[in-house]
Amino acid sequence: MNKAPSSEKINLSALNKEELAGFCRSAGLERYRADQLFEWIYLKNAATFEAMTNLPKVLRSTLSETAELKGVQEEAVHSSKDGTRKWLFRLFDGHLVESVLIPEFYPDGVADRLTVCVSSQVGCLFGCRFCATGKMGLKRNLSIGEITGQVLSINSFVEKEYGKRINNIVYMGMGEPFHNYQPVIDSASILSDTRGLHLSPKRITISTVGLPKQIRRYTEDECPWNLAVSLHAADDAKRNEIMPINKKMDLASLRDAITAYYQKSKKHITYEYLLFDQFNDSVEDARKLAKISRWVPSKINIIMYNHVEGVSYYRAKESRLQAFMAQLKKQGVRATVRRSRGDDIEAGCGQLVVPESL
Ligand code: SF4
Repeated sequence: MNKAPSSEKINLSALNKEELAGFCRSAGLERYRADQLFEWIYLKNAATFEAMTNLPKVLRSTLSETAELKGVQEEAVHSSKDGTRKWLFRLFDGHLVESVLIPEFYPDGVADRLTVCVSSQVGCLFGCRFCATGKMGLKRNLSIGEITGQVLSINSFVEKEYGKRINNIVYMGMGEPFHNYQPVIDSASILSDTRGLHLSPKRITISTVGLPKQIRRYTEDECPWNLAVSLHAADDAKRNEIMPINKKMDLASLRDAITAYYQKSKKHITYEYLLFDQFNDSVEDARKLAKISRWVPSKINIIMYNHVEGVSYYRAKESRLQAFMAQLKKQGVRATVRRSRGDDIEAGCGQLVVPESL
């Protein structure tokens, strides 16, 4: 194998399948070595080349000199009384990200849906007013391996604890997935790979704050995963107030991108709508939301907000939720209430944040 100077070590956990093949080609390795590396890094979550036991010893040692693996390391796990668990992962440069496991059970206690909510960035650029992650600002994007590593690490726990694999992934953790587009798409492809977790694309949801340009790219790329849009307000004035991005990319531009997506993909959209007390929870808001729900076939998740310290938005009252839902029902809208989970460990929607140093 051709050697590169050690100062130029390549991080293989940031390469997709084709890039790994390119790496092997330029290192003079046979094509099947790329498949082996792919399996070890992305399907088996190997942390070292030493662990890649079907590679010759001499190759493992050369790889250690020329390349590196920058995955995630488990730092801490917090358990909620409702069964939700939050992982804190440390990255190679000291940054931290959080991921959440949300288990749901059959009445007999057997695990049913095991959802992982995964982070795509350290912090976030978009500064939504209700969101703890948004307060951090954007530190950096995650690599493919840092995204898949969160899922595979949690899956190892899940297999031991519940005797089955995770069966649902949502890109709704820290960061805006479409602001780190290619690694997110590559990671979703890997998580759907038949040799690994083999999750049906229907079991993976990518959620966006609503970036029209990236929704068009997602449409052009014919991506098979579910698309969710964080709406959180049903008119521009209110959306501008809580989501600064709406001032540049308003609801009309979002509607155009979503319509083009539906026309090409024929897949419905999911809208996420956090319900805030006395802000977006009136019957009039529900009427506006019903109109948006008819842009294209869609369903709406109404999410009960977990308050974030220093934020002036609060969870809507039960009576207002009921009136809101009744109005949506009256207008024939497909809507479900999602009771936010993991409130006591700050693992709910909009609550993920990590300190600068730990
Ligand atoms: S809600 Fe999403 S897009 Fe908005 S600041 Fe939080 S992580 Fe970023």
